[in-house]
Amino acid sequence: MRHFMREVYSHVDKVIAARRARARKELGRKESCRGSGCWFCCRDTVVVSPAEAEELARGFELLPEATRTQVLQQLERWWEVQKAAGTLVPPALADSPDEVDLVRKKHNEGVVASTRTSAREGLTCMFLVDQKCSVYEHRGFQCRGHHSFEAEGPEVCQEKSAGSREVLGLFLSDLQSQFWRVVGQKRPGPPRELHDAMRRMVT
Ligand code: SF4
Ligand code: SF4
Repeated sequence: MRHFMREVYSHVDKVIAARRARARKELGRKESCRGSGCWFCCRDTVVVSPAEAEELARGFELLPEATRTQVLQQLERWWEVQKAAGTLVPPALADSPDEVDLVRKKHNEGVVASTRTSAREGLTCMFLVDQKCSVYEHRGFQCRGHHSFEAEGPEVCQEKSAGSREVLGLFLSDLQSQFWRVVGQKRPGPPRELHDAMRRMVT
């Protein structure tokens, strides 16, 4: 992992850990996340900045060849199913300042629609192998911040992916904006859906 992103992620992880601790105290319970093998949230649509995509591509290159092949097959299946369903996420790219709100709305609606397709069609993130993240050390901001504080356990995250309920997690929008500003200084560009970004990097 390159020095810059390692430092930024290390700082992000510390801030998220502090917020998790605060949430535990305020709610009087722990996260329901069970670590390895707890993966319903890996059906959610993830958005990454160019710097995060580069870091994921670096993690991909370090995988054994057989795993890389599996990941690429999963990428193509994800892409084809979403394309056939008409739920590929439009990039958050506006041509003019007047278009920003509309483009953002379409992008956000696309994220919801894409996640519902994944739940319906049994798709997971391309990087999920044997129910574990194959690029864990290189995963992006949203994956680092994804936690559930629901008392009912991880199964509720499945219902979230299907769009039938909300899940109590951490509020990290402020940290994400800061993070994207910091990494954008090095690698400017709009955040994209993860599979869209990876098709540009590793295929
Ligand atoms: S967010 Fe949900 S599915 Fe993801 S690790 Fe936590 S409990 Fe498991
Ligand atoms: S990058 Fe890893 S943690 Fe993030 S959604 Fe994909 S498999 Fe899950």
